Amino acid sequence: MPIPEENAVPRSRAEIVRGFDRLIADGKVHGAELNPSIIKKSGGGGGASFLAAPLPPRRTLLSRWEEVFRNRIAPDEFLEALSGRIQEYGHGDNFLLFGPDRVIYDTQILHSGMPAGNMTLNFRAERDERLGWKAYLAGRRLRVVHIEQIRLRERSSGYASALFHRYEKLFRDLGFHRFRLKASLSVGKYYWAKEGFDCSDKADIGRMREELRTLVRSLGLPVSDEELDRLNHAYDFAMFRRDLKVPTRRGSEGYYSPAGKEVPGEEISLPLGKAFLLCGQPWDGHKVIYTDTPRRTGFVYSEGHLSHEVRRGHKENGNRLVWLMKGVYREELHQSLVFLEPYVPGLEHIHRVHSPSYVEAFRRAAEGGAGTFATRDCSVSAGSYRAALLAAGGVMAGIDAVMNGRVENAFCAVRPPGHHAGKASATGFCFLNNVAVGAAYARAVHGVERVFILDWDAHHGNGTQEIFEDDPMVFFCSIHEHPSFCFPGTGRRTETGRGEGEGYTLNLPLHPGTGDRELAEMFDAEVVPALERFRPDLILVSAGFDAHRADPIAELELTEASYVHMTGRLCELAEKHCRGRIVSVLEGGYDRASLPCSAAAHLRALQGRS
Ligand SMILES: [Zn+2]
Repeated sequence: MPIPEENAVPRSRAEIVRGFDRLIADGKVHGAELNPSIIKKSGGGGGASFLAAPLPPRRTLLSRWEEVFRNRIAPDEFLEALSGRIQEYGHGDNFLLFGPDRVIYDTQILHSGMPAGNMTLNFRAERDERLGWKAYLAGRRLRVVHIEQIRLRERSSGYASALFHRYEKLFRDLGFHRFRLKASLSVGKYYWAKEGFDCSDKADIGRMREELRTLVRSLGLPVSDEELDRLNHAYDFAMFRRDLKVPTRRGSEGYYSPAGKEVPGEEISLPLGKAFLLCGQPWDGHKVIYTDTPRRTGFVYSEGHLSHEVRRGHKENGNRLVWLMKGVYREELHQSLVFLEPYVPGLEHIHRVHSPSYVEAFRRAAEGGAGTFATRDCSVSAGSYRAALLAAGGVMAGIDAVMNGRVENAFCAVRPPGHHAGKASATGFCFLNNVAVGAAYARAVHGVERVFILDWDAHHGNGTQEIFEDDPMVFFCSIHEHPSFCFPGTGRRTETGRGEGEGYTLNLPLHPGTGDRELAEMFDAEVVPALERFRPDLILVSAGFDAHRADPIAELELTEASYVHMTGRLCELAEKHCRGRIVSVLEGGYDRASLPCSAAAHLRALQGRS
């Protein structure tokens, strides 16, 4: 399908009308709601379906087409051009949808005729901020293609690269100025980074890096050689200099260009979460990839955590994770989180923290049908032992991903919880101390020296304290309801560590009724300086959400705001001391509504979103 040349005569009105008639007759054009956030997607494996709106009148269709496509292509040709076959892939159930200010393409991606994913693009003409309103009213608009979503079940197929090479040319030939990706596509979903659409093979990366080096030098940008050397692919570009102001110029064709002095330079600010890529002629210069997840956050979860079953009425039951996962999906965090699989670790990793005889006694009680282990509150079932190993292995998986740079931080949605479990003791719903196993693993396997553990569960992390109280390389800080009022009755300020570990335990008990403001003041006054002094190489969080005012199990009055505040501060400190490395681990939190809301707020803060 030939696309008219840059200055060729546009398609005639009659051709556009005929194109619409064909698509309407085939049921390929529909009206749709405007705002993508209120476009309702139905479930199922097919392409997204939209909240239908009446098809706009014909004159609206024609004027929208002219505005967005400059009539360089007829609607039926365009649909055909978008859905051309690449390798074994094609498109099915593809539609053009007309919202009040944009045209949307929605399709199912097929592989050898079988559903393999879906994709939504939208096309619009918007105000060019550089040129102002006057130019806008005079019809000078920036024409933008926005990739709303793309999901491919088969990663690393090369399809995305090939598709985007083709699309980049198509949209450029149609006169579009920008081709934008959403964050979840460029950062969170790492296959974009792996496949990249910015260059087709590895050899290109070296060339692009050299071009970038030249560009950076010629513009005198504050970017070091080391930063440039680290760049490998789109992923790294996204991590590189997040608050850089980049001077750019736009060439006579309207493309950003590092060269050319025909128009005054402008500065594009690349705030947190935005990244730029170089791209080939004639879209030379910078291409901005708009991201909305400034940090890559890993998320550890497995249904294996549900196989720890407890007696009826027990608060620490599998519903907690079901609620949490529903919250993650409801808030659409799944689109930008990097999902990580927990694993069942070898026992040597558990034995760094717990005595072998204790671990074996736990296994026998669970698998032998004892019903409880050690205390009445530690309800067990046949699957409890394996689930507990998987919880500890989940923290290890989170640590692996953070230490090898796959993600910057991670949250582990695991159970049973762990912070009350001591070297050879189970209590308070805990069997294996997940955070402690993780800290010991990070030190033994990843060569981490100093680990700071912050425990903000409503209950004192007595198990973690016992495990590390004489170890000056693990700082344990616990914020909890005062032991006079609350289980397990320990965690007074006077407990500050033992022997060599003296001074490396900090207990911050809160009186019942403590709220967000008091917590934030105490956190900034005591936790922040303690962490600054300790200068950790890794931060672990025992993130229980039972200090929330809605939680039934403690009398503290915190809200999501406290979790956001603490997470934000921790991220700042982590960036300063340990390359952002934080692995957060679920402990308590027993309220159906406040647990998922608090965890989602914590996750968004880990991602660096407000
Ligand atoms: Zn708790």
